[in-house]
Amino acid sequence: MPEGHTIHRLAGDLNIAFSGEEPEVTSPQGRFGEGAATVDQTEFVAARAWGKQLFIEFADEKSIHVHLGLIGKFSVNPLLGDLLPEPVGQVRLRLATSDAVADLRGPMVCATATPDEVAAVIAKLGPDPLRAEADPDVAWAKIHRANRSIAELLMDQSVVAGIGNVYRSEVLHRHQVNPLFAGKRIKRKTWDAIWDDLVRMMPVGVATGRIITNEKQLVAVEAKVAALGLGSGDSARVNAPRPKPYAYKQTGKACSRCGSIIKTKVVAGRNLFWCANCQRRT
Ligand SMILES: [Zn+2]
Repeated sequence: MPEGHTIHRLAGDLNIAFSGEEPEVTSPQGRFGEGAATVDQTEFVAARAWGKQLFIEFADEKSIHVHLGLIGKFSVNPLLGDLLPEPVGQVRLRLATSDAVADLRGPMVCATATPDEVAAVIAKLGPDPLRAEADPDVAWAKIHRANRSIAELLMDQSVVAGIGNVYRSEVLHRHQVNPLFAGKRIKRKTWDAIWDDLVRMMPVGVATGRIITNEKQLVAVEAKVAALGLGSGDSARVNAPRPKPYAYKQTGKACSRCGSIIKTKVVAGRNLFWCANCQRRT
């Protein structure tokens, strides 16, 4: 499943392609035909990401709520030539102008939403490290009372929005936190360090489209981002090398910190990767 940085990046791409335009909105597959008709040739105001949720706002307080889920794909492409390409596969939603076309396939959610409905979805989400106004205290209020493990809590979108399996495994390894410890055992200063680290790493994910968590790679990419003067939420793009994660999908390999073997276990429905030797902190 895409993590929050992918959705923020997608929102940026949609804004570049459609802001201020009145795109043709259709459902080539037909399943979202009625919904698409309600915003067809209506001014595109802005796409916004909140964790893994995407809201496309049109004029007249109309919105489309999209959640890609496990297999959804939303591609945004410049239109080359005069003709719109034939839809490929099951395109639930298509936005098109004379310059750009965006096709959504296989989403878990694609629905029209009133402002109240948008607010209700957002109200259920925890703070998103990619949003400037996000308040880590809101997440802490849930974490420090929880019997569930910190690995589970980080994947719970009502605790923190936008974190998926890769960022969870990596951030816990970076801070040497035992993923299986209950939230209530985690120290406040540990949570603050995890949050600050997510706030640091995730904008690099937006800028590069890659989850860079290896410190050496992170420093190198941050320097490129800084040189271009980009900040969180910017849609400008920076190239990055192939990520070298510390724990994610490193099962059976030696931990880069201590040399022990990286383990894996299913937590919150997904494989957790960690080093049982050096991840002992609370
Ligand atoms: Zn280790």
